[in-house]
Parts: sequence; C-alpha cells; structure tokens
Amino acid sequence: MSNPANPLALYGLDKAELIDDPKLAWVHQLVLPDLNKLIKAAAQAGFNLSIFSGYRDFNRQLAIWNNKWNGLRPILDANSQPLDISTLSDEQKLHAILRWSALPGTSRHHWGTDFDFYDPKLLPAGSSLELIPQEYAEQGCQHALSLWLSEHAQDFGFFYPYLSFKGGVEFEPWHLSHLATSQTMMNKLDARQVIEHLSNKQVAGFACIEQHIEQIFSQYVTNICLPET
Ligand SMILES: [Zn+2]
Repeated sequence: MSNPANPLALYGLDKAELIDDPKLAWVHQLVLPDLNKLIKAAAQAGFNLSIFSGYRDFNRQLAIWNNKWNGLRPILDANSQPLDISTLSDEQKLHAILRWSALPGTSRHHWGTDFDFYDPKLLPAGSSLELIPQEYAEQGCQHALSLWLSEHAQDFGFFYPYLSFKGGVEFEPWHLSHLATSQTMMNKLDARQVIEHLSNKQVAGFACIEQHIEQIFSQYVTNICLPET
C-alpha cells in the first residue's frame, strides 16, 4: 500500500493514489472498499446511492474559483441566493466564495476521499439536483437518503465534515468524507505549498488570497466537524 499522502496528491495535482473505477470514477485506493460497502448497504435499504460530485482536480477547482471571482458563475449567500458581487471588496468576495467553494489546492474533493451523494431515483420526474440544503431537509426529495446516511455512513468509516456551520464552510448535508484517509491528507496540507501552486497558475484574486492564507486555513480548511470518539 502506498503512502496515502504524496505531496502533489494533497493539492489535486496527482492521481497516483486513486483508482479509476468504471462506475464511480476516481476514488482513493484506501477508500474504495468502504465506499463499495456503503453503496451496497444503501442498496439493501432501497437507495441508489450515487456520487453527484467526487474527485475534482486542481484545475477544475481553479476554473470554478476563477468563474466565481470574475462573476461568470453566481456566488451564493447563506440562503443559496445569488449575491451582487459588484458591491463587495476583494476580501468580502473571498469569504463569500469560500462559504461554498474551496480555494484550489485546499478542496477535500482533491483527495478521492470525499463525495457529494444523492439518489437520482428520489428526484421528482424531470428535475435535476441543485445541491442545496432544502433538498436534504424534511420535505426535501433527498430527505430519506439523508436520514439513512446520518445513521449508517459512520459504520463504513465516513463522516460529515460540514455537519453544522462553524463560521467557515456552510452546512453541506450531502458531503461525506472517509475519516481515516481524509485526516491523513488534511494533516499534511501546507498553506505555503498551496500559495506556491497557486502562484504558478492564473488564479483570480491571488494577492488577496496570499494575504489571508493563514485565516483561510483556520476558518475554512481545518475548521471541520469531526465525529465524537
Ligand atoms: Zn462536496
């Protein structure tokens, strides 16, 4: 078994530790067995547990970031409503994006350990998933799946890093993470390395990011909800 945290893999720049599963796409080799067990157990409970968004590399996250910073993709507020970014300072814009989207190089989706789950069978006919909390809440189409996952995901080694809002990333009831593998990754992340990788790419807002990188780490990257042991 290879060391589960080679330096480039931490930042979405290397897929050597991932397996390209024909059904699930890129998943960390140390996560795939537990993920398959989770999906099988969900199927036995009547759910078609599916990945809406799993592995995402640095460049994909960079495109999302730049589109949001440049106003080509909406930045949502806490109620999932689009913000008018023309009224925001760079620092305000930084925090508004970070509420829902990670800085490239710091996304948990870079690791192959984290997944946004849904059940396509539960969607009303003709509609597609918006990935907003209301869909997972009572009355929401994904509520039954959400209840099942909150009860059983931990049995397969998964947890909800964004189980409640702690002043950083918003509550994300769809996002599950493989605890053991993701903790190894997170503990090796290095803010200076992120800045180095970002400085080599065309990231929008670089000066503001560089100035606030320590705060970005403490408020959004390491500020997660760990399960009680
Ligand atoms: Zn996610």
